[in-house]
Amino acid sequence: MARIAITDGMANDAVRALKKAGHKVIEQFFSEEELLNGALKDFDAVIVRSATKLTQPIIEANLGKMRVIGRAGVGVDNINLESAGKNGITVVNAPRASTQSVVELTMAHLLSSVRHVPKSDRSMRQSKWEKKSLKGTELSGKSLGLIGFGRIAQGVGKIAQVIGMTVHTYDPYLPPKIAKLQNTRLHKNVDTLFSSCTHISVHCNLNEETSHLVNLARMKMMPGESVNGVKCGNHIINCARGGIINEDDLLTALDEGIIASAALDVFEIEPVSKGNKLVQHPNFHSTPHIGAATVEAQKRVGLDIVRNVMTVLAGKKSEFVVNKQYLK
Ligand code: NAD
Repeated sequence: MARIAITDGMANDAVRALKKAGHKVIEQFFSEEELLNGALKDFDAVIVRSATKLTQPIIEANLGKMRVIGRAGVGVDNINLESAGKNGITVVNAPRASTQSVVELTMAHLLSSVRHVPKSDRSMRQSKWEKKSLKGTELSGKSLGLIGFGRIAQGVGKIAQVIGMTVHTYDPYLPPKIAKLQNTRLHKNVDTLFSSCTHISVHCNLNEETSHLVNLARMKMMPGESVNGVKCGNHIINCARGGIINEDDLLTALDEGIIASAALDVFEIEPVSKGNKLVQHPNFHSTPHIGAATVEAQKRVGLDIVRNVMTVLAGKKSEFVVNKQYLK
């Protein structure tokens, strides 16, 4: 039976499932130094979340028995996929488990932004009753631009349409028929998405193409007025990955009123440093990367990754391999 290290914690049900299958499970966080000294050498598999960084030197320092790396979640930017693949290690993730939770958090941020929920709460805590300055706008009748139209964006799009929004998307890798099926207008150029939408939500992966894709020039293209003639201002949400929005530009856009409100779950540098000007801005609110932090998602993510890791350990094919291109 395999020796499996769980380095960033995992739901109890999932740990139990591994043990029940007869595997030896060690739950322990290792420092970078310990990892560089080969702390994972005796393991057949390691399951990480985002805290453990499996860089090329760390992977190379732990070669021996390792056959599979499991990422309990979606983003694999903390794992060097090429180094793992070239050394015969399969990397699997659990991409579906947190979809619904991130969809719901995105809608929470969108609704909170346009109805000034965080701002109202801050004001109420100071014993103020500022009804006049807290007038909001409805989402109904507005255009929502989704950057990336994968699992999460499609879930957001469905709810937004029920609320009465018109949904636009920019996703160069999306088969047009999917956008059509979801009653969504697919843009070939990201600039026209910005010039068509008062509300933008980011749902693509972070890569060279998408780094700082949301910048001041593009925010300036947003119309500020809806197709139904309401001066609703422009609103930006990011529950995908930090770095897709240029945060300096976002601060400028908020200061200059180009953007009426912004809400982020993810930041270029996490955790955010003390005194971060964006976090302090009156028209901004945020959450500390909690998109997948629900009881349901954590339970699902644990069970999904255990299933995917055990599939590889059993020598079977998994549809959740993310480094196929590098495996020999
Ligand atoms: P997904 O793979 O289903 O969708 C991503 C979409 O982005 C794909 O359709 C892809 O074609 C598109 N894309 C790729 N490059 C693009 C580009 N240059 N421009 C526009 N679109 C592009 O992924 P998902 O499960 O929907 O996740 C979406 C994002 O949410 C990812 O960045 C993921 O890491 C993030 N996420 C965040 C949390 C959180 O805790 N906040 C949790 C889960 C996922």
